[in-house]
Amino acid sequence: MLARRAILVIMIEVKNVTKTYGKGESQFTALCRINVEIPEGTSAAIIGKSGSGKSTLMHVMSGLDHPSDGEVVVADKCLQSLKPKQMDAFRATEMSFIFQAFFVEANQTCLQNVILPLESAKVPKRNQGKKVEEALKAVDLADKIDVLAGNLSGGQKQRLAIARAIVNKPKLIFADEPTGNLDSTTGDLIIKLLFELNKKLGCTLVIVTHDEELANMCKMKVYMKDGEISSINGAKQATRKGGKK
Ligand code: ADP
Ligand code: MG
Repeated sequence: MLARRAILVIMIEVKNVTKTYGKGESQFTALCRINVEIPEGTSAAIIGKSGSGKSTLMHVMSGLDHPSDGEVVVADKCLQSLKPKQMDAFRATEMSFIFQAFFVEANQTCLQNVILPLESAKVPKRNQGKKVEEALKAVDLADKIDVLAGNLSGGQKQRLAIARAIVNKPKLIFADEPTGNLDSTTGDLIIKLLFELNKKLGCTLVIVTHDEELANMCKMKVYMKDGEISSINGAKQATRKGGKK
């Protein structure tokens, strides 16, 4: 009988990435020669104190920001080789973001908020309604579909932001301090939801946090200190899609 072995595929590969801000004497190195591999389908925490470079690393991993040196490969695509329009299209179809200050359009309904990523990703109109309904159902907001986002509570707004983040079944979800603005009960619900999505959809979850308890829920922990990785816990050997290491 053949032994079954789970093969881990790399979703995000950060290679020797440095990020500096400013020029000359005021130059500041926010990330210094970072190397890290995040396997597909995992949950990874980027953890560290305020100012350690967590958000910068997340921005570089997701192509929201450019490294000053080094490269980032996501799902076998080198982000630095993509033109801005290709980058936008790649992000629209493959990734989604949840930020601490959850941006929902207050003057638009839940339906209008959640449909946006489908329009950006050019999903055919006929398929949009069902996807929006499913996403709102997943965050327990199905009955609010026609309610203005501005009339929701803080926790409901964050759930709406999550519905919008998952509506197009992204391969990758980036969450930057997703519970920072919420009371602990609502925060716990949001976290539970994110991990359920990670399990159910198999999407790779990258959470930026300074909260050790939240980080402990992730399979992998990347510790940041002064722009460098001080340690990585829970990382397993992964292979590239093509099989090479
Ligand atoms: P964290 O998310 O861990 O709190 P950040 O990644 O936001 O940290 O920032 C890391 C460091 O880089 C901080 O010292 C911050 O002040 C600096 N920094 C971040 N963005 C900029 C910028 N646009 N210009 C200059 N410095 C920046
Ligand atoms: Mg930050």
